[in-house]
Amino acid sequence: MTDRRVAVVGGGISGLSAAHTLIDAGVRVSVFESSPVLGGKIATTTLDGLALPTAPDAFLARQPEMVELASELGLEDELIAPAAREARIARGSRLYPLPPNLLGLPTDLGALADSGLISRDGVARAALDLTAADDRPAEDESVGALVRRRLGDEVLEYLVDPLLGGINAGDSDRLSAQAGVPQIGAARELHPSLIEAVRTMQARATPNPDAPIFLTPQSGLQSMIDRLGQRVLEHAELRLGQPADIERASDGWHVNRERFDRVVVATAADPAANLLSPIAPATADGLRTIDASSVALLLLVLPLDSIDLPAAVSGVLVPRLEGRMVTAISVATNKWPHIADDRIVLRVSVGRRTDQRWLHMNDDALLDAVRADLAELIGLEHPPIAHHATRWIEALPQYDVGHAGRIDLLEDALREDAPGVHLAGPMLRGLGLPACVRSGRTAAAAALA
Ligand SMILES: Cc1cc2nc3c(=O)[nH]c(=O)nc-3n(C[C@H](O)[C@H](O)[C@H](O)COP(=O)(O)OP(=O)(O)OC[C@H]3O[C@@H](n4cnc5c(N)ncnc54)[C@H](O)[C@@H]3O)c2cc1C
Repeated sequence: MTDRRVAVVGGGISGLSAAHTLIDAGVRVSVFESSPVLGGKIATTTLDGLALPTAPDAFLARQPEMVELASELGLEDELIAPAAREARIARGSRLYPLPPNLLGLPTDLGALADSGLISRDGVARAALDLTAADDRPAEDESVGALVRRRLGDEVLEYLVDPLLGGINAGDSDRLSAQAGVPQIGAARELHPSLIEAVRTMQARATPNPDAPIFLTPQSGLQSMIDRLGQRVLEHAELRLGQPADIERASDGWHVNRERFDRVVVATAADPAANLLSPIAPATADGLRTIDASSVALLLLVLPLDSIDLPAAVSGVLVPRLEGRMVTAISVATNKWPHIADDRIVLRVSVGRRTDQRWLHMNDDALLDAVRADLAELIGLEHPPIAHHATRWIEALPQYDVGHAGRIDLLEDALREDAPGVHLAGPMLRGLGLPACVRSGRTAAAAALA
């Protein structure tokens, strides 16, 4: 144990990962969390007797940070992969299987044609990617601009945009290829043809087609928060229900008038901007330029056999052009059969950057609108046994073109104006849980340096 004191502001996965690293290093840590519970967006509700996550339910397996964290917390043996892996895309009155792809970029034009999802003209347009001249601009561009140019509008609108939108509820015409989808950014660097680039990337990757894409602890992501919370209780100070503010002190920083040598700010971008504006105004201004999408997640518990989807189907993505309220349906009980074998649980996503119609609806109106879409998409006629809606306001940061450069600048300004104060969270370099853990660890390492 050293005398250095570090405050962590924000008790979501980013802040708790920072605290976990700092505790390991033997410094004195205090975690400030404004709400009465830890976890932030990793939250659980009980519905019809089932404990169900109201936001993330799994994490990407190929990024190591969550797997490592689970193992550090003694949960490695609990990690399970989804039992259902086939997604469908809705177009008109039909659901189409997803053709082979990497983040929506097709890898096999024959299979793309066979899927029926893209018209013959659309497939012919996509094939031009293989022969069209190298037209890559030197600077960052949007995923939309890149995919429209190489593969055509239809592949963007019915494949890439729905897949990416299922992750960030964003608009691929504004999403930075470089920062928003690093794999697509890397494909763009690798080869003028996106199809060739993705084939090369897949050939270089370890050829294990059975490797899980997603993982989660059988006891739920909540169990990781519970264990991190337990570590904080045992080895640090926990200030729950205490919104923090930060002031400059003569020999460090004051958080809620307590002195600390270093501070890790691990809240969402907007609260971070409010916290930093008195001490690092340029960083606060930079954070305020990061737009964030709002979404609603509806959990529906249904009787068995009430939907027209086989057990192998994990969910349905709904392209923007379909004009529906529902953006994605995840069949939780197909993916995670241990949840229940006598009921169906759906996680239904509503809202995207370009569609806020739901924002002013009450729960009943929202449920009616969702049920109308589900009746047409998956044949659901039965009213739910139980339902629950969570509204996540400005929850998903949007990485517009040029994002990476703006983050570098705002972090430079933070180092200059408030040395010893560090940022973590999904507004920086990745939205998913592994990236949040990485950002928490990086901020902790900077606080220890
Ligand atoms: C609906 C939805 C589904 C998602 N699904 C997935 C998924 O399946 N897989 C995946 O990898 N990612 C998913 N994500 C993304 C992922 O959940 C988030 O990026 C991640 O949880 C963010 O963690 P965080 O700790 O950075 O922020 P948060 O979880 O937002 O935590 C920040 C904490 O800071 C606290 N706080 C704010 N202001 C103050 C203050 N002044 N003082 C003290 N505390 C403060 C807040 O109360 C909050 O607890 C999803 C997100 C949403 C919204």
